[in-house]
Amino acid sequence: MPLSKAEGVVLRGIKFGETSKIVALYTKELGKINLMVKGARSPRRGLASTLQFLSHIGVVYYFKEGRGLQFLSQAHLINPFWEIKGNLERFLIASAGTEFISRLQIGQQSHPDLFLLLINFLDRGGNIAPQYLKPLLVSFLLQASQLLGYGPSFSRCIHCERDILSQGEGDLLFSPEGGGVICNECVKRNGYYLKPSADLIRALKLLSSGLERVEEVGINDFDFGSAYRLLNPFWEYYAPGYRNLKSLEVWQEVGG
Ligand SMILES: [Zn+2]
Repeated sequence: MPLSKAEGVVLRGIKFGETSKIVALYTKELGKINLMVKGARSPRRGLASTLQFLSHIGVVYYFKEGRGLQFLSQAHLINPFWEIKGNLERFLIASAGTEFISRLQIGQQSHPDLFLLLINFLDRGGNIAPQYLKPLLVSFLLQASQLLGYGPSFSRCIHCERDILSQGEGDLLFSPEGGGVICNECVKRNGYYLKPSADLIRALKLLSSGLERVEEVGINDFDFGSAYRLLNPFWEYYAPGYRNLKSLEVWQEVGG
């Protein structure tokens, strides 16, 4: 059986048998793969800390095409993201981002840009000032949506493509099903629309343009709850497998 190499982020691990573990990995080379790691929990192999949730690791594994479960040969740590794991807020934000990737039904499909985005998100998630953690998550989710081909339209009407944001004041209309803002002329009588403020849409447009621009968002004007209430129904419609992110529910429960 041929040996293959990959680098990936640990999405989750399930204990198996006495000492083994099945690890779900989001890889640069092959999308999501599941690896059986024999003796993962045995101190002799020294893999327990390498295979932790959220760690960026390199693996060598026995690859068999069409098999749902591959077998690990070796693993090494590239970045453990300790800054994330040592802080509850950072951890929950990072968990929400990886949960989104985890739920996507993208299977074994290489998407190096999405992988790179995830690594950058985890990297920034460990260092960014705490008040920007929620905008960072929104930025990540919006850019992941763009890379997957369903980024929402924040400037142009989804039907006539007229720019309605540059002059927009007050409330705009947003169609979760149509995937963006819609102008007054194109509105359908029985359509379902949300009414975000033009300021919120401007903030989301900025956040969708790059993780490095997150700190440009007016932090006092950015209400995460409003952003999430707007985007949640959109993702439910467009992102296969998406439901409310559990990590965010946990955050709410702990008062985040
Ligand atoms: Zn229109």
